Amino acid sequence: VETFAGKHVALFGLGGSGMATARALVAGGAKVVAFDDNPASVDKAMGEGIAIADLRNADWSAVAALVLAPGVPLTHPKPHWTVDLARVHGVPVIGDIELFCQERRAAAPAAPFVAITGTNGKSTTTALIAHCLKVAGRDIQLGGNIGVAILSLDPLEPERHYVVECSSYQIDLSPTIDPTVGVLLNLSPDHLDRHGSMGNYAAIKARLVAGASMAVIGVDTEPCRHIAAGLESDGHHVTRISQTGPVSGGIGFDGQSLLRDMPGASKAAFDLTQIGSLRGRHNAQNAAAAVAVLTNLEVDDATIGRALASFPGLAHRMEEVGRAGPVLFVNDSKATNADAAAPALAAFHRIYWIAGGLPKEGGIAALKPFFPRIAKAYLIGEAAPAFAATLGERIPYEISGTLSVAVAHAAADAQAAGEDAAVLLSPACASFDQFRNFEVRGDAFRAAVAALPGIEGPHG
Ligand code: ADP
Repeated sequence: VETFAGKHVALFGLGGSGMATARALVAGGAKVVAFDDNPASVDKAMGEGIAIADLRNADWSAVAALVLAPGVPLTHPKPHWTVDLARVHGVPVIGDIELFCQERRAAAPAAPFVAITGTNGKSTTTALIAHCLKVAGRDIQLGGNIGVAILSLDPLEPERHYVVECSSYQIDLSPTIDPTVGVLLNLSPDHLDRHGSMGNYAAIKARLVAGASMAVIGVDTEPCRHIAAGLESDGHHVTRISQTGPVSGGIGFDGQSLLRDMPGASKAAFDLTQIGSLRGRHNAQNAAAAVAVLTNLEVDDATIGRALASFPGLAHRMEEVGRAGPVLFVNDSKATNADAAAPALAAFHRIYWIAGGLPKEGGIAALKPFFPRIAKAYLIGEAAPAFAATLGERIPYEISGTLSVAVAHAAADAQAAGEDAAVLLSPACASFDQFRNFEVRGDAFRAAVAALPGIEGPHG
């Protein structure tokens, strides 16, 4: 990153992405002063020659920018005063995506940059788009919120494609985000703790599509419809996508196939029924976004069809981890709120449902329409009593407590019933009461399933 060559930059947060940012800034000739309140991170940075200082004593009048590492909450006490100090001195507060955008404008404005956001489906859509572009033979870099720091990707080049998942936190810290194609999948209340209100949260996400040369917007939620209409009336290039029906001038879904009806492209249908990794209507939305992006980037239809069909899917998102006769075991550990659990509950019919963990606001009340599909619920973690109360007297449940007990009981019940069924971990909760993160929770589920008697591979 050379846009700050010779300038003073303050950096808060020295985890993985923060270190990638520090290295990129230093390599580009910036004078970086960094801080983190974790002594181990500070030691590691010092070992790499990064200057460390208590930012309270920095000469803020000489600082060109304060860079916050992704994942540093603004409400955290120290970033809070750091951010206050920066603002008082008129120093811009930015993140790594903003550094990337500034660098791209300076060094390789033609490099295709696809940025993806939304409340749910970001990682799946990002991985799917990257996969498809790779099948199309493009030079792909995949990163951002999906786990690879954007500033640790290969250097910008005119033909190199950057496919980047953006959280609302990252967009918030990227005031000039300007992707080639910006994707906004959907919006529902989440992360309101930081962003204050739904209006504020929507406004942050909207900037990603407003700054894009071409916008792709899911119009199945009201806030997104509103954003799409606003951009269209301002003359922006907008492709609307929907999972609930055909879309004139965009991409829709008829329950089986994606239907493309985009200006400048031939009409086409892409059948999703045979693609296990794209099961469920929510995945039709993710796939519709991919088709819109690929069409906008001039990938031919045969390649699009081939690429969709070969998508392997992501772990912990409706991942089929085993089968015992008619019983399928599905790891949807990533579903950390009720909205994210809904697609899995909609995708199966007789469900032995493992749910619970650290509850989110609203609990599982929003999932009531799916309760008739639940053969029995196995409740774990802190949320168990509240979930039990919502399930009420008509839906069978037990308080299993731990995941291993839940898996053993759910598997035994499902196998004894002998019918087509799914044992589904889709917890509608965060994992932190019992696990380090949702990946560890999903891995524990996969391991517990593999250890059951009579388990075959998922397609066995
Ligand atoms: P994110 O990166 O936004 O958290 P993921 O792709 O990791 O999204 O998917 C998270 C969860 O959300 C999955 O468990 C899945 O069931 C659900 N999901 C995926 N795509 C969508 C979508 N388009 N709309 C609603 N829910 C979705």
